[in-house]
Amino acid sequence: MVRAIVGANWGDEGKGKITDMLAKESDIIIRYQGGSNAGHTIINNYGKFALHLLPSGVFYHHTTSVIGNGVALNIPFLVKEIQDLVSKGVPKPEILVSDRAQILMPYHILFDQYEEERLGKKSFGSTKSGIAPFYSDKYAKIGFQVSELFNEESLKEKVERVCETKNVLMEHLYHKPAIDPEELFKTLLEYREMVKPYVCDVSKYLHEAIKAGKNILLEGQLGSLKDPDHGIYPMVTSSSTLAAYGAIGAGIPPYEIKNITTVVKAYSSAVGAGAFVSEIFGEEADELRRRGGDGGEYGATTGRPRRMGWFDAVASRYGCRIQGSTEVALTVLDVLGYLDELRICVGYEIDGKVTKDFPTTVELNRAKPVYTTLPGWKCEIRGIKNYGDLPENCRNYIEFIEKELETPITMVSNGPGRDEIIYRR
Ligand code: GDP
Repeated sequence: MVRAIVGANWGDEGKGKITDMLAKESDIIIRYQGGSNAGHTIINNYGKFALHLLPSGVFYHHTTSVIGNGVALNIPFLVKEIQDLVSKGVPKPEILVSDRAQILMPYHILFDQYEEERLGKKSFGSTKSGIAPFYSDKYAKIGFQVSELFNEESLKEKVERVCETKNVLMEHLYHKPAIDPEELFKTLLEYREMVKPYVCDVSKYLHEAIKAGKNILLEGQLGSLKDPDHGIYPMVTSSSTLAAYGAIGAGIPPYEIKNITTVVKAYSSAVGAGAFVSEIFGEEADELRRRGGDGGEYGATTGRPRRMGWFDAVASRYGCRIQGSTEVALTVLDVLGYLDELRICVGYEIDGKVTKDFPTTVELNRAKPVYTTLPGWKCEIRGIKNYGDLPENCRNYIEFIEKELETPITMVSNGPGRDEIIYRR
């Protein structure tokens, strides 16, 4: 059975925790898109970890962690992340890297930085991990697959060819030092030695695993609204964040993805630029940011303070629909216990008309929130295990959201820990 765990919002919904939790019953966990730009925060018996490239199943002995072909593979970063786990006492995980994954090159990181500098105030708020230049090159067909590291002659020739075009930009657009092809070639040979132990024909491996009835998890990064096609373009990420892309980024048939668990956060948060209709500001936002997540809403990769907002039912329903969600896990509900009342954005007013449909970016930039207000529950809900034991106002909030999402909420997360979960059906 293949199950995808994906986000409905702008990322940081708590997918890491849900994946870590569901990984217990899984054999294989796969990252299929993105790179080291986003991070999952996971708290378990070994401590607190920020994972960037490895899937969130690496903490269990019985699982295999897979980096699929759709990922932007930063090889030294991967090696460092593995070493970091081992140094903190986690048993060395079983890891496979697709021979078709493409390599995030040192110059991708440089181009990402230089471009954000060049754009100045108009920058995208990139994490500067090289992701946009990486995917640009992939589709411009000047990327490097892991498999190419194993043919030195053609590798050398391609490095020289690619450096020629890259150096035109370095010199004339960014006025920065040129890339030395010799040095880059040497770096790539080092990368080869680092990645060698993990390289695998991943789609074949998964084909066999599916035939053998293994439990497979696809772990998405970021959320629906950061998808380059269906999100808030251009303030999006550079690879698809949708469950559907799991089939491509891992190399499995789309019809094998039976279950799409979409993670929805009980309030809104976002990083980077872009329209955010239910955003709140000032002291109201500061308080939620301080209390939010586990130890505050600050980016797992960059440490940047996240933008905060009320629950946006318009964006979240769209986010669930575009994922093809079969169920929803509602997370970080526990932090809302301090509020007297909670607002939920149930419509967008655009040019005087109210809509419940999530619009394209041009209209989104003009949208104003239409709110409904619900009473708070004014107590701590951590530690509660049964749905019926939640305060009535809390259940009302959940059930209101469920109706808006048009998708069953099967799990409610009431704390960052693995076991802090309430199953509903
Ligand atoms: P991801 O990228 O979707 O995995 O999300 P992040 O890891 O960036 O952000 C989620 C944050 O919320 C992390 O710090 C988690 O430990 C924390 N978290 C996840 N679920 C819950 C929850 O139910 N309650 C609380 N208080 N924190 C949670």
